[in-house]
Amino acid sequence: MSYQYQQRQVTPRTEKMFVVGQGRISGYLSMFLGGLSLLAVLAYLYPSYLTTPELRAAYNAESLQHLLKYAMYFSLFFGVMTFALNKRKRMGATGISLTLISFALGGYMIPVGPVDPAPLSLGVDWLILAFLGSTIVFTTLEKLFPKYKEQVILREEWGLDFFYFCFNHLLISVILLVANFFVSHFNWAVSADLQSFIQSIPLWGQVVLIIICADFVLYWEHRIFHELPKLWRIHAVHHSVECMDWLAGSRGHVVQVFIERSLVMIPLYLLAPSKEALDLYVTFAALQAIIIHSNLGIPFGPIKYLLVTPQYHHWHHSSEKPALDTNYSAHTPLFDRLFGTYHMPTQHWPAHYGTTSRLPRTFIGQLLYPFKGK
Ligand SMILES: [Zn+2]
Ligand SMILES: [Zn+2]
Repeated sequence: MSYQYQQRQVTPRTEKMFVVGQGRISGYLSMFLGGLSLLAVLAYLYPSYLTTPELRAAYNAESLQHLLKYAMYFSLFFGVMTFALNKRKRMGATGISLTLISFALGGYMIPVGPVDPAPLSLGVDWLILAFLGSTIVFTTLEKLFPKYKEQVILREEWGLDFFYFCFNHLLISVILLVANFFVSHFNWAVSADLQSFIQSIPLWGQVVLIIICADFVLYWEHRIFHELPKLWRIHAVHHSVECMDWLAGSRGHVVQVFIERSLVMIPLYLLAPSKEALDLYVTFAALQAIIIHSNLGIPFGPIKYLLVTPQYHHWHHSSEKPALDTNYSAHTPLFDRLFGTYHMPTQHWPAHYGTTSRLPRTFIGQLLYPFKGK
């Protein structure tokens, strides 16, 4: 008998909805901007330790001070608003306090000078820019085109996923260092002829080629993480998410993050595409990784046969029988089709997400989970 697909039921959580006039919107905005401002001020004070060399090259620290200025004043504005509404004053007070500490430390007036690179740093700048950008873009998209309309922004376990987001972004320099060290062992496989041939291909051709080669590596890495029981316990952390949205994809065991980033470097290192092609690929891969976890109901038309879409990857996160251990591809469904792990009932979406046996629900619990028990 064929499998009976069901509709997912999302219970509306009215108490968690953002309603104008209740002080929650202004309270959270004040805390959000105040927290980001304080982090930014710390990054301006200690750039050697709190900014990423690779990222510093891509932005202008002086012009970002204007952004910081607005963030600080808006945090104060929203904080005062919670007092004016006479609701959620504690949130407003927290936001205002964070901003006042930022002002006391020098605020947006801290002079920007040359940076002495430290051997290792925390990616506070990467965290701020990625969080600010992603929150604005993806929260807006999810509100405009939701798959699950009733799902609230601050859904169950958003705090846990937010923690993962911060943790994995702060570690960016360490991850790059380890991945570069790992890939340097493949020096013997470098072919100058192949690399100059790759660089002679038009830009779009190079990008397509990297997408396919990286996807091949990611497919098998992912599949092995599912099929070897010891590795599955590491990867199960990513699958423990039961509510899908743009932040959900951040959940991943740190061991897996290091392995995945290191392995995907191999094709990039051996093919050595042009800088433009590499930048395009990295941007595409980063955006796609967020989009496919998002609460987005966009139908995508024929694109769904070419690229991994939210519906496709949501099926990978389903705990329903026909979907288990399918849809491993990260970029295009090609390798799932080739190797027999394709599952895409286009008329349906999963009714249940998560693992078949439940994991601990805390960061530490999940960090230790692979190393405990059998
Ligand atoms: Zn998986
Ligand atoms: Zn995923």
